[in-house]
Amino acid sequence: MTSDIILTGDRTTGKLHLGHYVGSLRSRVELQHVYPTFILLADVQALTTHFEHPRLIADSVRQVALDYLSIGIDPERATLFIQSMIPEIAELTQYFSMFVTVNSLRHNPTVKSEAKERGYNDLYYGFLGYPVSQAADIAFCKATLVPAGEDQIPHIEQARKIVRRFNELYRPVFKEPRILIGGRLTGLDGGSKMSKSLGNALYLDSSREEVELKLAKAKTDPARVRKDDPGHPDICPVYEYHRHFRPEQCADIHKLCSKGAIGCTDCKRLATQAVNELLEPLRERRGTFAGRMKHIDEILVEGTRKARAAARETMLEVREAMGINYF
Ligand code: ATP
Ligand code: MG
Repeated sequence: MTSDIILTGDRTTGKLHLGHYVGSLRSRVELQHVYPTFILLADVQALTTHFEHPRLIADSVRQVALDYLSIGIDPERATLFIQSMIPEIAELTQYFSMFVTVNSLRHNPTVKSEAKERGYNDLYYGFLGYPVSQAADIAFCKATLVPAGEDQIPHIEQARKIVRRFNELYRPVFKEPRILIGGRLTGLDGGSKMSKSLGNALYLDSSREEVELKLAKAKTDPARVRKDDPGHPDICPVYEYHRHFRPEQCADIHKLCSKGAIGCTDCKRLATQAVNELLEPLRERRGTFAGRMKHIDEILVEGTRKARAAARETMLEVREAMGINYF
């Protein structure tokens, strides 16, 4: 049986939050012990929407690396690397982009909804093409499994089509990647997914007090006015947090809330405890790494060196398959 290779990562547009944890960080920590794992700090993909704020992107690279280390990513097992420092990814993106049509990108539902969210009418070339670049992120290290949130399904489907087309056109160099979908976490506003850009996130570096304050303000079932009104836990973001962060308690919470036997304040207090219990070991690990930024840089230099070596090997094969290996 051949082993999977994992590729996963995050845009470096700010700190990571509980949505990232549920969507993909949680499974990465387990998978790193089982499969070769590449974790991408996606600074180029971050530029597609933040090209006016390169400073934020650069600062976020170390911030996100610290988030990774705090959740228990082990740099001895997982290769942490910076996307812009692997020029072979840009090269592969270029080759892939020759046979990807503009319409297939325009019809990608995640691209569509993100463009709408950001108010883009005339789409930037780099933004429209980011799923192609993402296919190259996956292909350069021959990844077969991508742990990611459900918004990534269309991108992985597009990546599968791209490598299939490459293999048909030239030579079978790549395997089609599969997605490993984590859950989707709703934001504190109860409206949409938890997201950096929507300002509804609970960050992994939150203090105990921040967790308490933010959860106290979180939206709950809007139909519930008085404490003893029966609630609808299935549409309440706080109940969702119970489900993800203290599953053993959630059947009881569901029952009590549905009967109006527990008020939102008490329910939030229990959710606060669950989230703080989850974050406590992260705070400890963050504390040990935070004073050692030089060590984090060393981890990134070493990871980027390893990723680059894999990229060089793949590109030799790619150029040979395409017949453009001249000398
Ligand atoms: P931005 O607003 O900058 O796009 P983001 O919070 O959406 O930030 P990304 O870097 O785009 O974060 O996403 C990285 C990974 O985290 C992806 O796999 C995505 O599916 C997952 N993810 C992000 N937010 C959530 C969420 N609320 N629930 C589950 N998964 C999520
Ligand atoms: Mg996003």
